[in-house]
Amino acid sequence: MWMFNCRDVSRLVSESMDRELSFTKRMGVRFHLMMCRHCAGFRHQLARIRKIIRSQDEENIPPLTMEGKARERLNQLLKEKINSFDPETK
Ligand SMILES: [Zn+2]
Repeated sequence: MWMFNCRDVSRLVSESMDRELSFTKRMGVRFHLMMCRHCAGFRHQLARIRKIIRSQDEENIPPLTMEGKARERLNQLLKEKINSFDPETK
């Protein structure tokens, strides 16, 4: 299964940031990203948000501070982005 559609790729890109994908999936995603600038842009945005969230994790901020709330909001934003990503309807 080499040809993923945009929705598959957006899900897999997000998944790949939490755990390693299988070789086949990784290749399929890479192949799609080479041809689809929507998904390439999406992956870029996602990586940037993840980086912000991770940098806050490293500072070990307690969950109930303002910063913890900001992190929650970022996580929420990330979920919304993944759910609303649908270049085919644009
Ligand atoms: Zn795509």
